[in-house]
Amino acid sequence: MSNGECIFCKIHRGELPATVVNRGDGLLAIEDINPKADVHLLVIPQRHIETYRDIGVLSPDEAKAMLDFVAETAKRAGLEEYRLMMFCGPGAGQTVFHLHWHILGGSFRGLPA
Ligand code: AMP
Ligand code: ZN
Repeated sequence: MSNGECIFCKIHRGELPATVVNRGDGLLAIEDINPKADVHLLVIPQRHIETYRDIGVLSPDEAKAMLDFVAETAKRAGLEEYRLMMFCGPGAGQTVFHLHWHILGGSFRGLPA
C-alpha cells in the first residue's frame, strides 16, 4: 500500500532524496530535514498508514519489527538515551500523514514541526 503524493512514500520509492541512516525489511530511518535535536531521526514504515489511530492494521510481527527497528536505529546512531515521539492528528502537531517515529537525542531544541 502506498500513496502517490505522500512525501514519505516518495522517499521509500526513491523519488525524493533523503539521508538514509538505517534500512530494514519494509522500514527506513532517515535524518529529519529540520532537526530539533543534535540527532533527529525519523523511522518510517513502508506501508502508508496515515496516523497511529490505524496502528491496528499492522500484524503483531510487523509492529514488533517496527519497534525493534526504532531501538536498533537509535543504538546504531550511538544513542543510549533519547526521546521517542509520534504525533497523531494535526491538532497534536502531525504534519506528514504517514506514520513515523521521531528519535531525538542529545540537546533538544523543541518539538518537531
Ligand atoms: P510530524 O509533525 O510528526 O508529522 O513530523 C514530520 C517531520 O518530517 C518534521 O519533523 C519535518 O521536519 C520532517 N520532514 C518533512 N519533510 C521531510 C523530508 N523531505 N525529509 C526529511 N524530513 C522531512
Ligand atoms: Zn505515505
